[in-house]
Amino acid sequence: MMQAGEIESALDDLVIANRILANENVVDAYGHVSLRHPRDPRRFFLARSLSPDRVERGDLMEFDLEGNPAAGDSRQPYLERFIHAAAYEARPDVQAVVHAHAEDVLPFGITAAPLRPVIHSGSFMGEHVPVWDIRDRFGDTNLLVTNMPQGRDLARTLGGNNVALMRGHGFVAAARSLIEVVRMSVYVPRNARVLLAALRLGEVKPLSPGEIAARNAGYGIASGRGQAALARRDRRAQRRLQAILAGDLARLGVLGHARRLRAPAVEKRLALKPSDQAFSPLSGETCEFPIASGRSLIPGRITRPTRHRATLTP
Ligand SMILES: [Zn+2]
Repeated sequence: MMQAGEIESALDDLVIANRILANENVVDAYGHVSLRHPRDPRRFFLARSLSPDRVERGDLMEFDLEGNPAAGDSRQPYLERFIHAAAYEARPDVQAVVHAHAEDVLPFGITAAPLRPVIHSGSFMGEHVPVWDIRDRFGDTNLLVTNMPQGRDLARTLGGNNVALMRGHGFVAAARSLIEVVRMSVYVPRNARVLLAALRLGEVKPLSPGEIAARNAGYGIASGRGQAALARRDRRAQRRLQAILAGDLARLGVLGHARRLRAPAVEKRLALKPSDQAFSPLSGETCEFPIASGRSLIPGRITRPTRHRATLTP
């Protein structure tokens, strides 16, 4: 059974996920990431209405699958929390959800051109990315998902897919872990950007279904695994999520050395040691990541530029 400390750790991860998505420009003043309660699948955690790059542990709220805040919590929630509630309600396999307005995906929600994975790191979105149009069932609205019927309609369009576009608005991404939904939400807009550029040049060659399956198998998202195996993997993921999230920042590379970030809790838990070796999180072996920034994922805890090493085992 998950200990209270592990829930706290999961919530720390959710704070970090907010910061990563903000740093990667997946979210700006708007957009959000949520995590299903590790011990109660009928509840999930999501920040109060706040820009993701401002979110701290104390800003996280708990909701039921109707989007109602926990009793006694009168803080202002996100208006579009129903996107998350309905996704968790419809998809027992989903542990984490992102909703964002990333500009690069928007053209594919307002034209007939399908968003397809065309780069290896875009494979996580899957072969098919459906488009949800709020106007189909709800007529003229402000395009925001402001109630459960709208959220459920979106979840129906999402179906068993990993990502759905929302016409003229953004996207929703759902995954079996926080790390997966963060990774997917970072790479979906990049894939969209590449696809847009390629479409100007001519015919586009997308990833094949076999390539998508091979990619997913390598990252452990592949379907067909038993639920027990998934649960075991998720428990492992929970224990190591912070380290992996922090590692992903370095692996993403585009952050650049000057902007690399770290999760302070990782240092304590994994007894990080100074190192300047290369980072290789996906090997499941030694994960090392340089930190050259005075900036922290959780404000006020990082004070000096340094380099650290974390060792992860699968
Ligand atoms: Zn929105």
